[in-house]
Amino acid sequence: MELNKTEDCKGLFGQQDCFPIDGVFPFTPTLGNARVLISSPLEAHLTDQIYDIAIIGGGINGTGIARDAAGRNLSVYLCEQDDLASGTSSWSTKLIHGGLRYLQHFEFRLVREALIEREILWGIAPHIIWPLRFVLPYHRGLRPAWILRLGLFIYDHLGGRKKLPPTRTLDLTSDISGAPLKGNSSIGFEYSDCWVEDSRLVVLNAMDARDHGAIIETKHKLISADREENAWKLTILNQSTGQSKSIRAATLVNAAGPWVADVLSGKIRSNTKAKIRMVQGSHIVVPRLYEHDRCYIFQNKDGRIIFAIPYEQDFTLIGTTDRDYLGDPSNVTISQEEIDYLCAAASEYFSKPIVPNDIIWTYSGVRPLYDDGASKAQEATRDYVLKLDAPTDQAPLLSIFGGKITTYRRLAEAALEKLSPYLPHASESQTGWTGKTALPGGDFERVGFQKLVDLYHLQYPNFRKELIKRLVRAYGTKTVMILGNATTEEDIGPFFGATLSSSEVRYLMAHEWAMSVHDILWRRSKLGLQLKAHEVEALEAFITAEQQR
Ligand SMILES: Cc1cc2nc3c(=O)[nH]c(=O)nc-3n(C[C@H](O)[C@H](O)[C@H](O)COP(=O)(O)OP(=O)(O)OC[C@H]3O[C@@H](n4cnc5c(N)ncnc54)[C@H](O)[C@@H]3O)c2cc1C
Repeated sequence: MELNKTEDCKGLFGQQDCFPIDGVFPFTPTLGNARVLISSPLEAHLTDQIYDIAIIGGGINGTGIARDAAGRNLSVYLCEQDDLASGTSSWSTKLIHGGLRYLQHFEFRLVREALIEREILWGIAPHIIWPLRFVLPYHRGLRPAWILRLGLFIYDHLGGRKKLPPTRTLDLTSDISGAPLKGNSSIGFEYSDCWVEDSRLVVLNAMDARDHGAIIETKHKLISADREENAWKLTILNQSTGQSKSIRAATLVNAAGPWVADVLSGKIRSNTKAKIRMVQGSHIVVPRLYEHDRCYIFQNKDGRIIFAIPYEQDFTLIGTTDRDYLGDPSNVTISQEEIDYLCAAASEYFSKPIVPNDIIWTYSGVRPLYDDGASKAQEATRDYVLKLDAPTDQAPLLSIFGGKITTYRRLAEAALEKLSPYLPHASESQTGWTGKTALPGGDFERVGFQKLVDLYHLQYPNFRKELIKRLVRAYGTKTVMILGNATTEEDIGPFFGATLSSSEVRYLMAHEWAMSVHDILWRRSKLGLQLKAHEVEALEAFITAEQQR
């Protein structure tokens, strides 16, 4: 495809030139509606004010609420005790999906809302969200083929599918998706859902909240919260310096995920009945099992399903498990029993058995589910529940239970609806704005991902194609803030390994709250799978030097 740089770029960025890079290299914000970073003296000054909302927790739900509220002209404070998305929100299966299996638990409200969200979220973040096709093989002795087809018919028609292709039936003896499978499934069904870079979705929500004026503080932990004179007084500990400070807010949101009960009873000392059920889910990552780009959803004999998904070019992601968890959510790790379960479940379908020795990496997370009394962990509702504690003449507290990444935006809307009697300053005309406005770097839905990559290839002809593609996947139109006016890769180096440059690391530290090797290699990216030990050491030394500058 021939692209005319000037003409194709106009309109993509509105009135701005395609790549407004003159004189701004490397880190001046120039695109989108980004305001300049809030400086620390201003933050110090703002601690005297009463915020409209204070939010505990920088996972997807906390940052989603912060973004929505800040865009409604509310003053917002959010504290996260560790890094953004360091809790459950970086340990998901990374699907924006209706949840096919929830149909069998009759969770139609949840499935419909989630199905509608797929294309909305893809539209506002087309860099970090993209469509996938899932192959569901029929398995003799498990659910009959007609039940699978009926379920997928409902899935296709329950709500919101306009751009994603519908279900089709596959002959697995001839279709390429049958090639890596054992010959015992001759029929399968292929349907649509979407992928999301989960931890980046959290960071982008936090960035957009900040761009709308919210104060976001990572490494800041809520120590206590007390109602005082119709407002909340919070004591916040800066985990980096050991210093604490107080802030005041008219309303308080407890979005602490698996720590929601701990925050309620230990920090807020509230009487809200904390009904949380912590359910562990683990994944394994193995070398790429097959060449095509489709995913599998496999039924197991225990009634559960697992996914096998192409992951980070060279790998396949397999998960997940479901088991009650009673320990500290910070320390959750995969058990031998879960490893054996996932290997056996995948080997039931793949012709080449998966064995524990194949595993390159594992990760585990804890679902902070609302405890609806279900007998098995896999049957506990995935829907969200919002509990409002608002005694007369006292500042309200809203606690969030459950939810999915897929429904975070609707959860945020529901949370603000619940708090609306206490937020008279909220701009009503902005209700629903988060589904219509792109997240940072995602303002190219009309252009499309591949064309944006092509435009950057034109602008940066001397750069490796895989480098440009990875940057556009992570940063969309904000890629320009990393590449700036560089003409060769040397201009953004040195490189630490894979395609990670010092320019990218500086960008992450300046604009995305990255403070450590772990933040960069396992949450802002998954380059941790590729960097060697000495490269990680060099990165660590670079970060330390940058912090001391
Ligand atoms: C294995 C697994 C697979 C999943 N797969 C999917 C999927 O494919 N699709 C999907 O839609 N959903 C999926 N989910 C669900 C989804 O990941 C979660 O519902 C969601 O991430 C929960 O987000 P959260 O913001 O509530 O919690 P979290 O992400 O855990 O955020 C809570 C934050 O609060 C912080 N915090 C706690 N206490 C304090 C304090 N005192 N002060 C300051 N901060 C504090 C924590 O550090 C944490 O970062 C999956 C979940 C799991 C476990």
